[in-house]
Amino acid sequence: MKKRKKPIVYIGGPGYSYDHFEPLIAQIGSHFDEILKTLKTTRPDGKTTHIELFVEASGVPDAVSAKAKRVCEDPATYEIRMTTGLSYHVWLASRALAGEYDFLPWVKRLKINDKSQKDIGRKELLADFAYFIGSYYILLHEISHVLLGHCDYVIDEMGFDTLDEFEEKCQGLSPDEIRIRKAFEAEADRQAGEFLSGFFESSLGNNGLGVHLRFPSRKHVYEFYVYAITLVFVLLQQLTGRNGEIHPKPNERQYIVLSSLTKYLKMNFPEQHDMLMEHVTMKAMEVGDKTGLIGSFNVLEVAKNALALGFVDDVVKETGIRRYQHTVS
Ligand SMILES: [Zn+2]
Repeated sequence: MKKRKKPIVYIGGPGYSYDHFEPLIAQIGSHFDEILKTLKTTRPDGKTTHIELFVEASGVPDAVSAKAKRVCEDPATYEIRMTTGLSYHVWLASRALAGEYDFLPWVKRLKINDKSQKDIGRKELLADFAYFIGSYYILLHEISHVLLGHCDYVIDEMGFDTLDEFEEKCQGLSPDEIRIRKAFEAEADRQAGEFLSGFFESSLGNNGLGVHLRFPSRKHVYEFYVYAITLVFVLLQQLTGRNGEIHPKPNERQYIVLSSLTKYLKMNFPEQHDMLMEHVTMKAMEVGDKTGLIGSFNVLEVAKNALALGFVDDVVKETGIRRYQHTVS
């Protein structure tokens, strides 16, 4: 039997090191500020939501962590703590697009609008754009935990104070509590996916084809988006070994974020929705296959993902989490 050739994705090497990434650390804070400038939020009790970001430079690139919690009731203050190691890994994952293998064979058709960036090269610029998407996704997922009221709910109703993205210990949690936590994770992904679609679209400029880089068409724009976001979930699959009960599996998370894109496009670009989503769905399976995102490249598995996520809306109803939801103005 003829074996199909697959690319090998080196997340974590070779050729890149933490030294290459270090100058980009300041970007994390500016991405966060940019997001908060857009999202002004208020809690159901009328208090303005304050969210603070702490980027912890542990000096150890492999220290990967991200957490969200409420730290003060009045003023309503929440903190997000993440390590530079996590961002470093997201950056490394994005480098897959800069490597020798042509994930996007049309890369030569990208036009570099900004002359000062001509020397960097199309693939590197595309990889940088993918890092922007990955970095925004991580921050928006944490911010969504705050805005959806998850940080309030776990402290007020479940008796613990931190939502930890990489701790999957379920000891002490009942099956029902695990189900709630998992639904919150899926909901944060869904919300982050909607926000991310908006931020991505607004980064493309008025013509919707890109500012620094100009894509050949809208299909190419969203094909790139699918690749960029999938690389984040391939990374999470690698970092977590696909273990744990609290988070949906990385392939389910890819599915959730792309479902949010459907919703976003339906609302904002209804005339492009069918054409783009048909392409996106096909490419989501293609990139899953190329990068080894388990469960994402088989139609039956993808259909199962959709059905398995039905519990999220049940949990939303059962917990009454909407009464904790902050409003965005
Ligand atoms: Zn989370």
